[in-house]
Amino acid sequence: MKKLFYIDYPQEHLEGHMHRYRCVHCKEETTIINGRLEGHLSSCEYRVKLESAGYESEKAASTNTLVSHDADDFD
Ligand SMILES: [Zn+2]
Repeated sequence: MKKLFYIDYPQEHLEGHMHRYRCVHCKEETTIINGRLEGHLSSCEYRVKLESAGYESEKAASTNTLVSHDADDFD
């Protein structure tokens, strides 16, 4: 099961930045998350909930050549 974009997570303003938002749970910015489930931290409540519901992150995506996953593997 897979959504095209994961954008239904709760968001909050970044303090001092009127036009920047972040996930309420893992505090990653929306520009970092970029609609991807794996943009959230692996400990993020939203991500954990969706993954446990059967949604997939893109770690096994077939054509991933031009995306660098530098914000994903800290656990
Ligand atoms: Zn999150």
